[in-house]
Amino acid sequence: MSHPEIPQHLVIFGRPGCGKSSLAERLGSEFGYTLIRTGEMLREAIRRQDFLGKRVEIHLAKGELVPDPLIFELLELNLKSPGTAHLLFDGFPRTMGQVPLLEQFEKRLDFRIDCYLEIEVSRAEAVARMTGRRVCPKCGTTYHLIARPPKVAETCDLDGTPLERRKDDKKEVVEFRQQVYDDNALPILQYYEARYPGLCRKVNGEQPFEAVYSETRRALGVTDGADQGTAKR
Ligand code: ADP
Repeated sequence: MSHPEIPQHLVIFGRPGCGKSSLAERLGSEFGYTLIRTGEMLREAIRRQDFLGKRVEIHLAKGELVPDPLIFELLELNLKSPGTAHLLFDGFPRTMGQVPLLEQFEKRLDFRIDCYLEIEVSRAEAVARMTGRRVCPKCGTTYHLIARPPKVAETCDLDGTPLERRKDDKKEVVEFRQQVYDDNALPILQYYEARYPGLCRKVNGEQPFEAVYSETRRALGVTDGADQGTAKR
């Protein structure tokens, strides 16, 4: 990583529709983070129709959270000791029950999260954005009809695959997922604020994507023109 001052391993939080997946992708390509995306891993398991995929399919279609033991199983299968890699968790931990799971993985695989970043967006704005979301079923790249349109309408820029709307982006499922976020994320954020106040950062997600990305870089302590350092625990 060419910016040693920025977090080695971080978690991004934000309600569905806040844009955190696009931010995570951009941070991954700029700074070399390895993305750990439980939502994407679950969708892959469903596409493969493997043992885990068959058990989680119904939860995703309804917009419900997948039970913690299955998330543990998923990460056990997918999460390896990072070595020199830098991990960016997008979508985990998602419940208070998953907080100790992350701590367990940190100890066992020998890495420490040194930043908890929250992308703040109102519920109404998130719902409006989600209805325009499209995803490539082949590579998982996320687009938005207004905020991040593909070069050719409804087609993936990277591999030309026709874009799809996720099953869980239906209106009633979208509202339900917002409620699930409100019920589960708040206690997690409060826990980290109390435990590691120096490692928690907030970014205003209600701006155009480039502005959110710039604010995110500053919040992470990127020093080219930025002024904020990142505390270590
Ligand atoms: P979003 O943040 O837009 O909801 P994700 O791709 O992160 O999208 O997650 C999609 C779905 O995958 C969630 O609605 C939930 O059903 C499931 N999921 C993802 N991560 C977790 C997790 N850590 N714990 C439980 N369920 C999860």
